[in-house]
Amino acid sequence: MTRIAHWIAGAERAGTSGRSGPVYNPATGEQTGEVDLASAEEVAAAVAVAKEAAQAWREASLSRRSAVLFKFRELLAERAGDLAAVITSEHGKVLSDATGEVARGLENAEFATGIPHLMKGSYSEQASTGVDVYSIRQPLGVVAGITPFNFPAMVPLWMCTTAIAAGNAFVLKPSEKDPSAALFLARLWQEAGLPDGVFTVLNGDAEAVGALLTHPDIAAISFVGSTPVAKHIYETGTANGKRVQALGGAKNHMVVLPDAELEAAADAAVSAAYGSAGERCMAVSVVVAVGDVAGPLVEAIAARLPKLRIGPGTDTESQMGPLISAAHRDRVTGYIEAGAASGATVVADGREAEVPGDGYFLGVTLLDNVTPEMTVYTDEIFGPVLCVVRANSYAQAVALVNDNEYGNGTAIFTRDGGAARRFQFDVNAGMVGVNVPIPVPVAYYSFGGWKASLFGDTHMYGPDGVHFFTRTKVVTSRWPDPGTSSVDLGFPQTR
Ligand code: NAD
Repeated sequence: MTRIAHWIAGAERAGTSGRSGPVYNPATGEQTGEVDLASAEEVAAAVAVAKEAAQAWREASLSRRSAVLFKFRELLAERAGDLAAVITSEHGKVLSDATGEVARGLENAEFATGIPHLMKGSYSEQASTGVDVYSIRQPLGVVAGITPFNFPAMVPLWMCTTAIAAGNAFVLKPSEKDPSAALFLARLWQEAGLPDGVFTVLNGDAEAVGALLTHPDIAAISFVGSTPVAKHIYETGTANGKRVQALGGAKNHMVVLPDAELEAAADAAVSAAYGSAGERCMAVSVVVAVGDVAGPLVEAIAARLPKLRIGPGTDTESQMGPLISAAHRDRVTGYIEAGAASGATVVADGREAEVPGDGYFLGVTLLDNVTPEMTVYTDEIFGPVLCVVRANSYAQAVALVNDNEYGNGTAIFTRDGGAARRFQFDVNAGMVGVNVPIPVPVAYYSFGGWKASLFGDTHMYGPDGVHFFTRTKVVTSRWPDPGTSSVDLGFPQTR
């Protein structure tokens, strides 16, 4: 069994709190590791190291920082396979999916190599006679990232690449369920030439998070996780004077209009609902079938399900791996029961799938005739369960999306450009796909939802990420001829 320690001042550090937690291989149910859980004292000691490192790192030239990012990107690309294997061993997702996660995270490193351009301010010459005004962007100091289990590499990469390139020191508190990917990234940063202390990994649970939320030297917190925790992070972090962006849960609707290409829509629904066993914040969990398309669409989706290969993520034949834990699998099973009891039609029942061994596997479930008051509709299930809600009209479909508590991603499937354009105008969600079921923005845009899917006003990575991890300073400057100087108590004017 591996002991999973912290990463402080450029080295692994065993925890001293006396608290630790188990890490499992979800495909076998075996405990494979024990992760140290940091105390408030350990958090304070690590933040002190990060604070000192931040002072020096902000002095590093933009080209030096960019060079570290280039090297980091190169190493990440080289070791993508190894990192994917680490992800699969603790998260359970299939290797191809884990490789995809690393590839999307890599895009954020690529974006951050352009930091000299991204940090540019603006300059106004002669704003007043002999006076120039310009803005500069500066790092915040020590910033923290608190991340969920479902993307143990990509979500930390969303944050740390930009934060570090911008000249901050970054403290990562990864999910205690699959913490090893964070340590893998720490070693890559070091190999890329990042000075010790600029990237820290503090393993832990709510205790470590609480300490970060109240620590006076943490300037900003970037969070991704479930909605109740996101809300708590936002409220506590901001009450403690920190800049906070907190991304929460989701219930992503895929609206299928009667004119949609049926087979393509069915393929998309199956891929987006069951990929990564539905444990994606951008998973499609609700299909809204408009009008006559409902019957044939449900049939087309159902026809694809028996062909899905469920098994260990390390088996290249597997398309879907296990859920993260036994408790989570049981929770998802409870939703299937609740859906059936409340009158949804169980077209496919994941409880019937059999995978040998003690892994946390669950088959795929398709529930038809779901209605908005059922818990399978109102709650984020975060498992391989797809609900179909039947709508009579486009207007009813949009109202469903807009009335939902969450507003992360949504998609429309149609051949009608006008309808798609209307949809992008009408929907209350942060990310919209047109015939694209999982519209995760590329790295040079920003990622974020609306409503209960995001607390704060800044989205993750891309231009918003640069904005979040820097603050602007505006300089008004004059180099006067001493002969023109005089006392003037009036308010400075520009004309
Ligand atoms: P989670 O909220 O349980 O945990 C997220 C992080 O918060 C972890 O690091 C965890 O240790 C910490 N945490 C948990 N409970 C806490 C508490 N009471 N106080 C302080 N810290 C606490 O989420 P999860 O189960 O790891 O991840 C799944 C959730 O994340 C889903 O809801 C999913 O939709 C969401 N998610 C959202 C996005 C997005 O971009 N909006 C992306 C990925 C995941």
